[in-house]
Amino acid sequence: MLSRLIPKNHFCSFFIFREEPFINWEYTNIVLFTAFDFYRSNSFWIDEIMRTGKTLKEGLIDLGFPKNVDLMADTGIFEIEAKKAGFAKKLGIEVEFKLSNEEVFHAYEISGADFFVTPDEIIHPLDTKETVKRKVAAIKENTLQLLEIVPSNQVTGIIQGCKTKTIELLFDFFKSCGIKYLARGGAVPLYKYDNQHFENIMFKTREITNEYWLHTFGLPRVSLLPYYIHTMKFDSVDTSLLLYLSARKQYLVGINPRPVRLVDFLSCDCKGCQLLQELKVKRNNYGKEFFIALYIHNIVEASQISTDKSRKKSQKKTKNNSREEKHKSAFITKKSGESDWITVKQLIEKKHEDKEL
Ligand SMILES: [Zn+2]
Repeated sequence: MLSRLIPKNHFCSFFIFREEPFINWEYTNIVLFTAFDFYRSNSFWIDEIMRTGKTLKEGLIDLGFPKNVDLMADTGIFEIEAKKAGFAKKLGIEVEFKLSNEEVFHAYEISGADFFVTPDEIIHPLDTKETVKRKVAAIKENTLQLLEIVPSNQVTGIIQGCKTKTIELLFDFFKSCGIKYLARGGAVPLYKYDNQHFENIMFKTREITNEYWLHTFGLPRVSLLPYYIHTMKFDSVDTSLLLYLSARKQYLVGINPRPVRLVDFLSCDCKGCQLLQELKVKRNNYGKEFFIALYIHNIVEASQISTDKSRKKSQKKTKNNSREEKHKSAFITKKSGESDWITVKQLIEKKHEDKEL
């Protein structure tokens, strides 16, 4: 299935991700693991894997996880930040959860992941000049530390910043380190601060990082998914939101979340909806099976949103040698019998081939 989503896979803390049907992950060719998920988990499974000296990915593969699905390791810093800013703060509780770089890198090493995101600092629109300077210096230092243990072709550099100068500074730095995979961070605080400014900065980031693979962390609303992919031309999008939607019993119809009890599952032919229909007949609307089936539908639906339009567009366009066209061609290249999705690695290789031509 062609997908440009990188969903979070909470296989450390939620056992359902280590069981069927999620363990046989077939919805995307890359999923996100977070160091935060590793540390918050108290699963014996992790202890067992570590005792045998295997990586978490090897442990997952033993359980049936497809070898060719890439694992991208991230800090999970945003989840921690969100917790701090959310209900904990409302209750007056200071969240004492901070991961040191040593802890993050320890989790990274154990993960056996294919890609590693540099630990970053979220730059907020109201940060002072000094704060931005300090955060940029910290991001650079974190990157250099990560590069001591991981080769640059497996590192994803996070672009932060609410001003062109900051974005350029970080981009130039990552480029000088030989890093080819980039991701935009800090999107949600920016979006909440000012829509127009958010839009300008996101476009600017895409423009500056032209020719580089650019992922975006933080999807504030599902309706922004086609916008990120088709208008802003981000290469892939974080989809943690789909998990939260599913937990809240919301079912996606296109970009619109609907209460699942109002939906006719027969109007969609995905595997999730087949399961949902069976559960509905059995009147089993609340178990983990129901959540799993709903999440499958939401992932499949979001994948459709991110691919349909790009296919139509690439059919319409015939002669345009723009970045967009090169990019599209990378996505529509497929041999019969192969999955529509191409991996991040393949995409980068393709982009560089295109560049050399
Ligand atoms: Zn469905």
